[in-house]
Amino acid sequence: MTLPFTIQAQAGAARFASIHTAHGDVETPAFMPVGTAGTVKAVPQDILEDLGSENLGAQIILGNTYHLYLRPGHELVRKLGGLHKFMSWERALLTDSGGFQVFSLSELRKVSEEGVSFRSHLDGTSHLFTPERSMEIQIALGADIVMAFDECTEHPAEKERARQSMEMTLRWGRRSKEYFEAHKHEVPWSESHPLRKQRAKDGAPAVLHESHTAPALFGIVQGGMYADLRRESAERTVELDFPGYAIGGLSVGESRAKTMEMIAATLEVLPKDKPRYVMGVGYPEEIVQYAAMGVDMMDCVLPTRAARHGLLFTSEGRINIKNARYAQDQSPADPKCGCRVCARYTRAYLRHLFVSAEPLAAVLNTIHNLAFYLDTMRTVRHAIRLGDLSGMLSGSVSLA
Ligand SMILES: [Zn+2]
Repeated sequence: MTLPFTIQAQAGAARFASIHTAHGDVETPAFMPVGTAGTVKAVPQDILEDLGSENLGAQIILGNTYHLYLRPGHELVRKLGGLHKFMSWERALLTDSGGFQVFSLSELRKVSEEGVSFRSHLDGTSHLFTPERSMEIQIALGADIVMAFDECTEHPAEKERARQSMEMTLRWGRRSKEYFEAHKHEVPWSESHPLRKQRAKDGAPAVLHESHTAPALFGIVQGGMYADLRRESAERTVELDFPGYAIGGLSVGESRAKTMEMIAATLEVLPKDKPRYVMGVGYPEEIVQYAAMGVDMMDCVLPTRAARHGLLFTSEGRINIKNARYAQDQSPADPKCGCRVCARYTRAYLRHLFVSAEPLAAVLNTIHNLAFYLDTMRTVRHAIRLGDLSGMLSGSVSLA
């Protein structure tokens, strides 16, 4: 099982690279917008495709297994051709394992060796997620990158509890891989991938790299807030041999210094020639910092969720658009931002939309915030290519 990952430039520990998926290349370090229920809330797919100042757009977005399983149901999505086709998104998709949402959203959950039984937060019905079930659902959805089923250790957790949880994640990781390897070619696009059709038309044998006919499965490192457990989890997850590795269970209420310490301890152990993904982070200055440490992929609901609450990320820091001081402000949300919202609308108008509870407020605020995040990562990649990230690490993020 491989996922082609080409490192093109390095600056210190940071890498500029490309992940080659069946649905296009993903330049890294990458920030991945979260598309919870088959939609990045408030933003249409065609706008996601050209977000940011070079119109590069989002090359990869997330889908949430827990939400899509409950509604509309993975069997329906499979029947309709998979999540790419269902939501009309031809670029790369990553799905999470469902574990994190079960831990954070569902009621009456019960963890056993077999998996997690829980009640839906929508209608109270009973469900069971196991590693095998999570793989089955993610393969039916048809993501390009599938995540192993893990237990997100609660915070705070005593060391013995964190160790038990880490051991469970390792056993579930092994079961995830076994099921995945046996079923990965069942993704809805395996036989109908555009490259396969093109080769058949050209008369060339339809032999494709495995990454064009099957998704890739990433392992997940846990270990709570204990550096030695994180290192051990990383070593033993690497022994299971995945084409990429995620660091889970962070950003759950710990200090930022602790998050960094856990990431640093884990990165020491993870192989340098595979993509490394920190799940659920972070603020713009954090994602720059983690990219500098050698993290290749990150995702977070922060830019989209904050946007719906009127919080905008800008090159001048965070602004709360509902503030009365913006009532007559004729400047764009961020004077240095090249996004379509900043090119067209004033802070005064954005404030008016927000305080009037107009749906367009969420749309415009989200487009700007995501453009800011994607531009931040584009600038990071540019700096890595130039061999120097130091300018981006001093104080606030400025977009060159
Ligand atoms: Zn903007």
